[in-house]
Amino acid sequence: AMQILHGGRYSNHPFCVSPSGLKSPISKFKPFKMSNWYINKTIKDYVKCAKLAKLSGYDGIEIMGSEGYLINQFIVKHTNKRTDKWGGDFKNRIRFPLEIIKQIRNSLGNDFLIIFRLSVIDLIDNGSTFEEVIYLANKLEEVGVDLITTGIGWHEARIPTIATMVPRANFIYLSQELKKYVKIPIATTNRINNPADAERIIANQQADFVMMARPFLADPYFVLKSLQGKDKIINTCIACNQACLDHVFEGKETSCLVNPSACRETELIVNKAPNSKNIAVIGAGLSGLAVATTLASRGHKVCIYESSNNIGGQFNIAAIIPGKEEFKETVNYYAQLIVTLNINLYLNTTVNDQQLAQYDEVIFATGTNARKINIDGIDNVKVVNYEDILNKQVNLGNKIIIIGAGGIAFDIANYILDRGNEFNSFWGIDTTYTKVGGITKSIINHSTKKITICQRSASRMGKNIGKTTFW
Ligand code: SF4
Repeated sequence: AMQILHGGRYSNHPFCVSPSGLKSPISKFKPFKMSNWYINKTIKDYVKCAKLAKLSGYDGIEIMGSEGYLINQFIVKHTNKRTDKWGGDFKNRIRFPLEIIKQIRNSLGNDFLIIFRLSVIDLIDNGSTFEEVIYLANKLEEVGVDLITTGIGWHEARIPTIATMVPRANFIYLSQELKKYVKIPIATTNRINNPADAERIIANQQADFVMMARPFLADPYFVLKSLQGKDKIINTCIACNQACLDHVFEGKETSCLVNPSACRETELIVNKAPNSKNIAVIGAGLSGLAVATTLASRGHKVCIYESSNNIGGQFNIAAIIPGKEEFKETVNYYAQLIVTLNINLYLNTTVNDQQLAQYDEVIFATGTNARKINIDGIDNVKVVNYEDILNKQVNLGNKIIIIGAGGIAFDIANYILDRGNEFNSFWGIDTTYTKVGGITKSIINHSTKKITICQRSASRMGKNIGKTTFW
């Protein structure tokens, strides 16, 4: 099925449109308010797009009605201030999506799949209530939608919905609840990244389908491996967003942090090597593991030497940060591959040049160390680096200053504050869904620690951290 998405005020160009001409906080351009004529024309555009999809051989289409895009902008009061038949009360605000579905169904007949991506929780002020979500779901069913896929939160919502700190399957309760009110199937999504969770959701009848996107960037053989019972060698999406969404926002090529061949499948082709060589890889951080496993899969005989007592290097450190535990998955994946590919791993081992002389090739993947900065007092006992803190080698006082304001600084601050990880209450998600937009007052456990972060430049702190990871 092909997705039809009109960005409305999220569209990144000066001629973008929206129901009421209100600019979004995450967009560069102020949209034009759509006239009645323009709304009708846009409905016809959706129908034309669906017809073209059918002509191109698609079995169906998915109409994107969530995440704060155009249709969602019509549905909620937050962005729809109109007083004509397209705005005002809820029945008027949902006229736009219902008209789109009705006209597509009329034009394309019954033998064409129509999926609607419904925002089951907007997570913004003046978003829909759950009663309204149910009402719209019933209406969508009435006008010919075959399957509802669930969308969680608007892009401009301050609450993270797909980032790594979101607990796995956190929003599943919403599809489970909605299922009670509709007869057509419900597909669920957001932070479901492994076959076992997907299987459990279906078995528990919390949804009829599970949707994923990023996990297929992390491992294009996800489904095949799952079918073959090889779940342990699935390269899990760790929800970091660093090489997929952050790249999209910067206009760079999409890829994947844990699978750099994603979207470069025709360039990075791993073939069998003509001659098998004996290769030593020094260092079992992520680079060492990636190179060792790639070489072994090409038919080389590979040994890895690692001076510490475990593999994974900096990823093990990242996994200590609250909300980044998922990084451990990548290390587990490589641990399995080492076994599967018969790689010899030597932990707690350093090597000298004589030992290395027996190999045809030696690859250094010895990683990085934190830079020691040259300022007065740097050797004072009070000055420590982030690894000492994360490895619990120091007892921190209550007043702390962090020099530098990059990603590690924020991660360390987060670690030190240790506010507990009750995700929903911290971010103010109303899991009872009695409040408009599904948001409530957040509950923050205040820490006794007082942290000051300082940086050299005068720019906004965190400016250079990826857009979607900076939550
Ligand atoms: Fe998942 Fe990160 Fe890869 Fe994106 S870059 S697909 S979030 S692991």
